Amino acid sequence: MKKRIAVYPGTFDPITNGHLDIIGRGLKLFDGLIVAIAESPVKEPLFTVDERIRMVKESVKKYRNVNVEGFDCLLIDYLHKKKARIILRGLRVISDFEYEFQMALTNRKLAPDIETVFMMTAEDYSYLSSRFIKEIARLGGRFDCFVPPHVAKMLKERNIR
Ligand code: ADP
Repeated sequence: MKKRIAVYPGTFDPITNGHLDIIGRGLKLFDGLIVAIAESPVKEPLFTVDERIRMVKESVKKYRNVNVEGFDCLLIDYLHKKKARIILRGLRVISDFEYEFQMALTNRKLAPDIETVFMMTAEDYSYLSSRFIKEIARLGGRFDCFVPPHVAKMLKERNIR
């Protein structure tokens, strides 16, 4: 039987417990996941793609069927290259919806063979975003409870206060 591989794309700057919850639950639906890390230069990420790949790899090392890669092309071209047909995205609040809706419809127009699947955030993580974690770090607050320990360490070492 053909394996169902989903691609979970994002900036992951940095990866949070909310992302990890989507990955854990996504693995119950799919045979494998590729976490695809976008360079996202317009977002001016705090961590380089290589750093983000390293931190995501470390975060998912307990899973056998998760691969982590960087990509800098059109997402649908990346999926075609990987012979994958499913984009996995997480949905938090209503404000996520408009952007995700636009992106899903644009991708479907460009590549009708690819489906976007959305998973609703877990209650505990509904407010969690990489952007707020960086803001907390900048302002000297505690962020250990929002990210895995090695990510908290990398954030501390980046010293963005
Ligand atoms: P992007 O730049 O593509 O938005 P992000 O790393 O911010 O990348 O997010 C990647 C995906 O993970 C998006 O679909 C986003 O909605 C989802 N996501 C981010 N944080 C959470 C969370 N706390 N709960 C559920 N989904 C989330």
